[in-house]
Amino acid sequence: MDCPKCTGELVAARYGDEIEIQRCNVCAGLWVYPDDLQRMKSTWLAEAVLDTGSPRVGKSLDEVDDIDCPLGHGPMLKRVDPEQSHIWYEQCPVCDGIFLDAGEFTDMKFETLLDRVRGVVKGRRDVD
Ligand SMILES: [Zn+2]
Ligand SMILES: [Zn+2]
Repeated sequence: MDCPKCTGELVAARYGDEIEIQRCNVCAGLWVYPDDLQRMKSTWLAEAVLDTGSPRVGKSLDEVDDIDCPLGHGPMLKRVDPEQSHIWYEQCPVCDGIFLDAGEFTDMKFETLLDRVRGVVKGRRDVD
């Protein structure tokens, strides 16, 4: 499968038995589905294993919009992460596939964790 953003190719990347996604062998952008994304968010260190690209390359490719679904479904739509409005990504309206630039998943995950940690700290202030 061709990367929608650059001349690279999307190849399988795995983490454990549960998660298999596609990653570009050049820009390290990630091709995932919403279910994968949820699993990746709740899996410890998934970002370190899967989101291995340079955020700088990701940022420069963030300016490439108007991309087409790599499965041939036509133009993808720009979406804003419902929880973190500074994160934009592209999603195919047909197959729901999502393309994340390198570093974007780490960003998403880190803030999700921070929110969780804040919640835990608040809830357990009396312990220890
Ligand atoms: Zn690429
Ligand atoms: Zn598609």
